[in-house]
Amino acid sequence: MNPFSVQNIKHTQDITGLSTEDSAKYIAGGTNLIDLMKLQVETPSQLINLSQWEDEQSITEHDDHYRVGAMVTNTALANYAYHKPSLSLLSQALLSGATVQLRNRATTGGNLLQRTRCYYFYDTTKACNKRQPGSGCDALTRMNRIHAILGTSDDCIATHPSDMAVAMMALDAKLLLTAKSGNERVVPVREFYCEPGSTPHIENILENEEVITAVIIPKQRHGSQYYRKVRDRSSYAFALVSVAAGLVVKGNRIEKVTLGFGGVGTKPWFPVSAIKVLTGAEFSDEVLDLAIDAELADAKVYGSNNFKPDLLRNTFKSVLNSLYEHQCENDDYEGALYEN
Ligand code: SF4
Repeated sequence: MNPFSVQNIKHTQDITGLSTEDSAKYIAGGTNLIDLMKLQVETPSQLINLSQWEDEQSITEHDDHYRVGAMVTNTALANYAYHKPSLSLLSQALLSGATVQLRNRATTGGNLLQRTRCYYFYDTTKACNKRQPGSGCDALTRMNRIHAILGTSDDCIATHPSDMAVAMMALDAKLLLTAKSGNERVVPVREFYCEPGSTPHIENILENEEVITAVIIPKQRHGSQYYRKVRDRSSYAFALVSVAAGLVVKGNRIEKVTLGFGGVGTKPWFPVSAIKVLTGAEFSDEVLDLAIDAELADAKVYGSNNFKPDLLRNTFKSVLNSLYEHQCENDDYEGALYEN
């Protein structure tokens, strides 16, 4: 690991006017960045340590939203969301991620900004446009079992690994961003991440020296909710496919559907086309197929990940069918379909 200095942030005002070096990196729980530094994928000369940022360690409830400080740990957020029926999707997603030890360290802001787990990104002997722009992409023609089928480009097919971000996307969360100048702006999670295009090293719309301060989650009804994660083993593994879903039905009509997909997109995937087909439709097996067909219309497979469209279709239909049965039997139910 290269030598680096550490500067601790305790309060939001410490960020404004901060003196940073060109290769400085923000660090919070360090559950991803430290690994990247050990492998020489990241070589910052300065770390701005946010883990002691006292102003952003709590969750507050307001009339129409929850405000989650960026330094709230994944464990604390999962526990809080577990007791709020409209956030049960978020709790399920968080509890499906990583391990207890990692969730105790990992923060809300850091989780959203974690890097891909593409094997070639972590191996500095391999070609990777995300790590080294213009060097190529070994994943395109080699082992790509964990890679994306939606939002891909000829320069990168890596997935975003966060379960929490998929749930935040589905729940229409917004991010409060603060710049070193002190300026703040609010950006929907659905608009935060970038598809790789020809610049896979640019992963989100954060501007120079902006930091995620908090996540705002609107209070909305999502009905019965379920986060199903399909992976190679049942713990401490990233999603091959995940489906975050909430469903409100009246009679047989879909009044509202809440959706997010993980493991299939180059960013946490918001399935706009599927939601459009489902909203207001009569629930049926056929309409589920039409919805997933619409979402998969532009999907592309790369060899080892050829199984993903079918796996996504089956997971999506199974989750929606379970939610439908549960919602029909429990009319005004709001909360988790299955407890973790
Ligand atoms: Fe790098 Fe993206 Fe290719 Fe993986 S898929 S090797 S992250 S460019």
